Amino acid sequence: MMMWTGFAMQSLIQPTDEQESHMRSNVPEIFGSMVFNDAIMRDKLPRDVYRSLKKTIEDGRDLDISIANVVAIAMKDWAIEKGATHYTHWFQPLTGITAEKHDSFISPQSDGRVIMEFSGKELIKGEPDASSFPSGGLRATFEARGYTAWDPTSYAFVKDGVLCIPTAFCAYGGEALDKKTPLLRSMETLNEQALRILRLFGNSSVKRVTATVGPEQEYFLVDRDVYNKRRDLIYCGRTLFGTLPPKGQEMDDHYFGAILRRVQSYMEDLNDELWKLGILSKTEHNEVAPAQHEMAPIYDTANIAIDHNQITMEIMKNVAKRHNMICLLHEKPFAGVNGSGKHNNWSMITDEGTNLLEPGKSPHENAQFLLFLSAIIKAIDEYQDLMRVSIASAGNDHRLGASEAPPAIMSIFLGDELNEILECIEKGTSYKNQGAGKMEIGVHVLPSFPKDTTDRNRTSPFAFTGNKFEFRSCGSSMSVSGPNTILNTIVADELKQFADELEKADDFTEALNELIKRTIKEHKRIIFNGDGYSEDWKKEAKQRGLLNLPTTVDAMPTVLDKKNIDLFARHRIYTEAEVRSRYEIQLDVYSKTINIEAQTMVEMTRRQILPAVNEYVIKLARSMDLKLRIDPLLKSGMEKDLLKKLSGLEDKAYAQVNELDRLLSKAPSYDSDKLACASYYKDKVIPAMEKLRSFCDEMEANTAADLWPFPTYGDLLFSV
Ligand code: ADP
Ligand code: MG
Repeated sequence: MMMWTGFAMQSLIQPTDEQESHMRSNVPEIFGSMVFNDAIMRDKLPRDVYRSLKKTIEDGRDLDISIANVVAIAMKDWAIEKGATHYTHWFQPLTGITAEKHDSFISPQSDGRVIMEFSGKELIKGEPDASSFPSGGLRATFEARGYTAWDPTSYAFVKDGVLCIPTAFCAYGGEALDKKTPLLRSMETLNEQALRILRLFGNSSVKRVTATVGPEQEYFLVDRDVYNKRRDLIYCGRTLFGTLPPKGQEMDDHYFGAILRRVQSYMEDLNDELWKLGILSKTEHNEVAPAQHEMAPIYDTANIAIDHNQITMEIMKNVAKRHNMICLLHEKPFAGVNGSGKHNNWSMITDEGTNLLEPGKSPHENAQFLLFLSAIIKAIDEYQDLMRVSIASAGNDHRLGASEAPPAIMSIFLGDELNEILECIEKGTSYKNQGAGKMEIGVHVLPSFPKDTTDRNRTSPFAFTGNKFEFRSCGSSMSVSGPNTILNTIVADELKQFADELEKADDFTEALNELIKRTIKEHKRIIFNGDGYSEDWKKEAKQRGLLNLPTTVDAMPTVLDKKNIDLFARHRIYTEAEVRSRYEIQLDVYSKTINIEAQTMVEMTRRQILPAVNEYVIKLARSMDLKLRIDPLLKSGMEKDLLKKLSGLEDKAYAQVNELDRLLSKAPSYDSDKLACASYYKDKVIPAMEKLRSFCDEMEANTAADLWPFPTYGDLLFSV
């Protein structure tokens, strides 16, 4: 049996209080109970098989089919114990969500019975029909068929009675059709180049460097019954109309505030589900806006952290439904209220457990830290465009640049102390805490920087927070595979240049000093420790020559610049065809998103808002008429005034909805030039939508509450 599913439904059965308290008291027991993890593998696999598999996982070796067969049987038996009847190659197509195609383990026998079977071949490779997933032109160039390949570095797990095997998804020609393949390629190249640097510092024991990621996930919770009355939320995941309620986030009483019982119980349930899947959900708290919350996991290797984040988003939505709520992951569900992001904490760790972005305790360690730091500074400066592209979407455009999320201009926050140290290095002057003499790399011990837990640098898109960088511009609904692929690649590229230069040097320390100094001098324009929301920064950034790419449409073409295509080719992350395919898909999704939103606005205006306002206008007219009949001298000032105002707005909204409709009918076809199409939506459709909204919102503010055809912002934000 085969079936395509999007999100499988979770069980609707609610646990009793007793069960809940039982589950809660057994966290170590439930943690990872649905994961075929290292402990289970060690337990279930013959010793030599386990060792081969470990080698594959740790050193990226190929897996022998005979080994795969043994693993497959152990995996199947374990999964059946956990209630699984099916297996799926779980993958991450370019839609940004995950896909699964369920196959059952059953295999018919000649006597009419069935047995449960699963082979190494089925574990290693699957063949879903690639034609139903976006390929951005790759399909035209290459064969439609694709295959999924087991990624043994991310553990298999059981979810909703299905054994899920994390896989990469490629076309038969080898072109990546998913988000995992390039990520794995980028992790590999980062490993290679970082190892070269570590060798230069005399470290011969480290075998592997891995990118680590901890994505903090923001989300909104709204009541399901209230949600169901809003067509815009149902179709678009965000509201397209609505005025702000009298009370919003201005009192700052929601942030870190006491968590409501209903939300608390949701979070407990969510944690249980995540823990069972081995997802290290650690902290949970309310966010700035009413109804907004955040979940932060403990970081993991980039590959696993991203798989986990994809599962987390799915489970967040499913668990919310069980609590009669809806989890909104859109970047901007409500205009005028803080949007949601995903703070992508990123660093590099060695197989010996050393965090390469931890300033060291000795001059030697510090020199190494400063070299990695310089590589990152140079990378962000040279590839501002790719960083911006990696987070571009119609939804995220609402956040970036609005004064609540990092601006669309890329910059790095280092904090005053580290900044000062870099200045001393560059100028060859002394640093305050170190006595006389200039700041020399490899000679001085750096102070340990306090981990930044304050809000003071919330406005920076890319902030150093003590021992990692936090890329704050990522959207809440997106896969962070793209941003991390870019980060790994651009840092690897700089490390490669550094290694090329330093390996040739006669005097390593001297060459290192010179290299770091030069890098700071040439790329310090990207460092900005001030207020990223201010208008002054926009001006200053322009003077510094930094890019400001406010929208997806402005950002996307930069990905095709020669320097970027060359970068990807140099590290075998994407071929030019793969870059172009992703470029096309991203623009296509942008156009389609705006089109759906605009159509929804047309429908809601014509079928809900205008009829409702008109009803009120008739009421006012009747009231006026009635008063005049009672006494011709009665003034009816209120009725007359409102009637005039609302009639005027009705006419304006009516004209504008027709205009929007006309613009939509004239929009270029999705099959035409993708950039031209997206530009049309950005330049023509979005402004028309904004204008229509302004008329409708003004009508909302002046229409009787009981006649308004759908729940208001107040109803939504305070619904839970
Ligand atoms: P906060 O930002 O709230 O002070 P932390 O700095 O401890 O909290 O962590 C925030 C997020 O960063 C968490 O998801 C955490 O796991 C992650 N994180 C911490 N260290 C690293 C690291 N070395 N690499 C990647 N992510 C990390
Ligand atoms: Mg944080």
